[in-house]
Amino acid sequence: MSSCTVCRRATEAGLHVCPRHAAELRAWLSELPEQARLLAQFLTPATAPAQGRLGGTGRATAPIPVDLRVLTLLGPGHVDPRHADDDGTVPILAWLGGWAGHIAYTQPSVTRDPYGTAHVRPCEQAWPRHGETVTGWCTWLTRYLPYALTQPWVGDLHRQLGDLIARIRDLTHATPHEHHKAAPCPQCGTFDLVAIDGQWDITCETCGHHLTPEAYAEHRADFLQVHQAATDTTAA
Ligand SMILES: [Zn+2]
Ligand SMILES: [Zn+2]
Repeated sequence: MSSCTVCRRATEAGLHVCPRHAAELRAWLSELPEQARLLAQFLTPATAPAQGRLGGTGRATAPIPVDLRVLTLLGPGHVDPRHADDDGTVPILAWLGGWAGHIAYTQPSVTRDPYGTAHVRPCEQAWPRHGETVTGWCTWLTRYLPYALTQPWVGDLHRQLGDLIARIRDLTHATPHEHHKAAPCPQCGTFDLVAIDGQWDITCETCGHHLTPEAYAEHRADFLQVHQAATDTTAA
């Protein structure tokens, strides 16, 4: 029997993370590009001061001090994911690239030669389709998440990404807003369905069940209908 490396709850056989924590990983990866964009704004002040304090002397204005933590996060670096516990110095891109490299190395890739014979060998390198940007790596990692969930080190990935997101949110003060939904989770029945700003799907905070907005709308309509019918019967 497998259990979640984050919360110890039982998981589907072969998985090392429960649906809820898998959903959290997915959500963090979808949040990260926007957080990085917000961070980058610290480096390019929208309104450069027109004049220095001395005024009109033509002297260059003192540069606006940039938080060293922001520079570190957006800076270059190299990260070995197996030893990347956040001491506050891990840069975003290096962290993402390090993990993608690790996943690519451990995930065997199947290629077919021109004669149709399949060859299985480790990927040598991860190539994000959208380039080696935060968005590119997050898209890449999201695509490989189903594989990562089957690996015992996914707990490290979860912990490190959680720390990284917390460190960035602390600077940007942008925490995605959560909206609790009115209808209960169709899977576990708790009233823990939550929509988060900027994320497309709706997730149950208790069991990790996902719904598309369309599926939720349908489910909510059914729920209301049943609820309404029950109320009518009681009233009659
Ligand atoms: Zn869990
Ligand atoms: Zn649920």
